[in-house]
Amino acid sequence: MTGTRQNQIMEFAKLCEKSNLHGLAFQHHAICQRRAWFHLNRLDYAHLEDRMKLGVLAHETSKVRDRSVYGLMGLSPDRIDWQNRVVIEAKAKGGVADAVSRQAIYYALILSAHTGKSWIPAVYVISERRTRKIQIREEVISEMLDAAKELTLLLEESCPKGINAPICRTCSYALLCGRV
Ligand code: SF4
Repeated sequence: MTGTRQNQIMEFAKLCEKSNLHGLAFQHHAICQRRAWFHLNRLDYAHLEDRMKLGVLAHETSKVRDRSVYGLMGLSPDRIDWQNRVVIEAKAKGGVADAVSRQAIYYALILSAHTGKSWIPAVYVISERRTRKIQIREEVISEMLDAAKELTLLLEESCPKGINAPICRTCSYALLCGRV
């Protein structure tokens, strides 16, 4: 890894640790600041919402989680290909591809920071039974670092305004948000 790339990755990892940011926060952040705020403030209601319940169930019954990831630096990706340094996050559906990718990218950056070697993020889409590898370009690292800074600020703020987009119709936080 180049010095600049590694420095940015280290800065990202340190900020995530300091602000206690995890992969899912980056997925929500890529969709909507308000949604990220709900998540950061632990205002989840997965037990009440049918889509979230189905997602959790598909995840748990698909046996995607590999035992070798337990106890891994506080991370919980679903699978790791240690030989090829690929870290895999499983999702029930492809969803918003860029947002879904963010969680896997988060794991790859944290592993890269701790091992000093490059890791490849990948998303396994359970409903399609396919794995999509993601290339981490320089600008992706910058975007993740910017997102970590924004999420850190969001921790101190009151609930921000939401968006008005088609995704609101299927958002898992629509009830909390007052959109239904
Ligand atoms: S319903 Fe829309 S505005 Fe509300 S949290 Fe979800 S994506 Fe954001």
